[in-house]
Amino acid sequence: MKKFIFLLSSLVIAHTGFSQNADSIMIKKISDEILSNGKVYDNLRNLTKKIGGRLAGSPQMQMAEQWGEQVMKESGADRVILQACKVPHWVRGGKDEAFIPTFKQGNKSINLGIFNKKLDVIALGNSMGSGAVGVTEEVLLVNNFDELEKKKDEVKGKIVFYNYKFNPTYIQTFRAYGEAGQYRGSGPSRAAKYGAKAVIVRSLSSSTDNNPHTGATRYLDSFAKIPAVAIGLRDADWLNNELQKGKLKVTIKTYGYFLDSAIGHNVIGELVGSEFPDQIITVGGHLDSWDAAEGAHDDGAGCVQTIEILRAFKALGYKPKRTIRFVLFANEENGLRGGEKYGEEAAAKKEKHILAMESDAGGFTPRALGFTGTDEQFQKFMSWKTLIAPYGCSEFVKGGGGADIGPLVRALKIPSASLNPDSQRYFDVHHARSDVFENVNKRELELGAVNMAAFIYLVDKYGL
Ligand SMILES: [Zn+2]
Repeated sequence: MKKFIFLLSSLVIAHTGFSQNADSIMIKKISDEILSNGKVYDNLRNLTKKIGGRLAGSPQMQMAEQWGEQVMKESGADRVILQACKVPHWVRGGKDEAFIPTFKQGNKSINLGIFNKKLDVIALGNSMGSGAVGVTEEVLLVNNFDELEKKKDEVKGKIVFYNYKFNPTYIQTFRAYGEAGQYRGSGPSRAAKYGAKAVIVRSLSSSTDNNPHTGATRYLDSFAKIPAVAIGLRDADWLNNELQKGKLKVTIKTYGYFLDSAIGHNVIGELVGSEFPDQIITVGGHLDSWDAAEGAHDDGAGCVQTIEILRAFKALGYKPKRTIRFVLFANEENGLRGGEKYGEEAAAKKEKHILAMESDAGGFTPRALGFTGTDEQFQKFMSWKTLIAPYGCSEFVKGGGGADIGPLVRALKIPSASLNPDSQRYFDVHHARSDVFENVNKRELELGAVNMAAFIYLVDKYGL
């Protein structure tokens, strides 16, 4: 009996040993293909330089969809589907401005002799403009919502300046972003509730430059939809300093408004499974980006990495057992309608999805894979760590997902994963004019695709 158990366990070891070896050879092939013949960087150049910023509803977004369809076909998709969805169509409408105005003599609210200083601002996405007349009011500084509540009787008729800073002690910058995000998201309506005329939000960043960072805000219908801008960090510090000395008025001019909803599309490239075609693996990023940036890291990187997995599998003649869907989602930034549509249709058609993965954290050096699933699935995920770690993702962590795959994951209750690249520089450029192709490193971008492809290969081969 003892001998039998010994034999059995050595067989198991021999078997796993063999398959680990075959897998490490395959993953090396995938890596070599992407690092030697990859199109990921060229594809990003085309998307960002030929098309540029591509907010939902814009002509650039339509161009990006056509580009995505073509590149998916060229990369070898069995078929490419454009899945239509209704998307909001917000436009900036003009050049956002903020400055310290000049006053006539005798005005009591003196501006400390600082006249016509310009502040670098950008209107928050989905915000309503002030028009050319602008809003000129005294600024009320609050560092957080607690302070807003304490000062609520002073808010009426003023411009509220939320100077909430990124917490520098968090190693994962996404944590700081998550905390500060509420000021951009609900700050305008919370200030409007007490009669504020406009809002300035400290940019959600810890960058050393002065570029303001936009991003979606969410008005509550019960309060006035007041103009709202993000301000660059140096100007935020300057404004904070001046407000310590005394009262200050600022003029804000923004022009945002909504056009009628438009039709956007998720671009879906598919490789049909050879053994289990009805078992679907989804991997993707979002194709839309803010208008004032090229959307290189956010999320051009995730899109071209997604396409690169498809290209590499085809180039290597790898025929997946399961159906793999490579998805460029529509409208993540200011509506999430693409992700919602994808989830709704999968549920309505009773599709069987086994995993959804997203890359939407920048094209930086891959560090970790995040995973959410049952304990059993997590154990299986962990067993692949030694195969993938040599390519960069040396940490396998609990908790993985993404905004776009969220509706699918919740509707079908399936496991989800994310590529977690190094996060130290992401919020330097996120939603700012500095999110351009030049700020993406070719090797780092490619390595992200390598790690994603290796993981998708293992999920396809072994299931979850
Ligand atoms: Zn994004």
